[in-house]
Amino acid sequence: MKKTRYRKTFKVEMRTTCKMCGKELPNAKFRTFCSKECRNRSYNIKQAESGYSTDWAKAKRDKIASVPDENKCQCLICGKWYVQVGSHVRQVHGMTAREYREYFDLEVKRGTTPKWFRKMKGDQALKNGTYKNLDIGAKYRFKKGQKGVGKYERSPITLERLSKLYKLKKS
Ligand SMILES: [Zn+2]
Ligand SMILES: [Zn+2]
Repeated sequence: MKKTRYRKTFKVEMRTTCKMCGKELPNAKFRTFCSKECRNRSYNIKQAESGYSTDWAKAKRDKIASVPDENKCQCLICGKWYVQVGSHVRQVHGMTAREYREYFDLEVKRGTTPKWFRKMKGDQALKNGTYKNLDIGAKYRFKKGQKGVGKYERSPITLERLSKLYKLKKS
């Protein structure tokens, strides 16, 4: 009886089962989880709940994207490197791939996807027969000098900001 009271004062959690999976703990060394796997799983859940892991993943992606890579293209707005700059500008800068291309292609001949990626996509299109769809789309595609279609009005502030950014990237 005395022994029990003594233990209680220290509030030691005396588990007999794994906190994660509920299996019996194999021996006294394991106090909360039955295995490394269960401990890691619990840790990962906590991380995800705290929102820290997504921040961490984002920081890691940003770090990777800031390294110049010949297999990627550089975003001319933020200077980071992506395989698909088009989807990046849409997600991060809220600009459509077309707006981006239209604005920057007028000044620089630079694609939004690296050559190998275009080639791979091209090969895939040939294999799948998706190239047939391209002909249908061609009618609707924007042609240089065409009025109305694909022209986007931009505020003078945006234009100035973009041209400044472009100058920065160039220097
Ligand atoms: Zn377990
Ligand atoms: Zn960017």
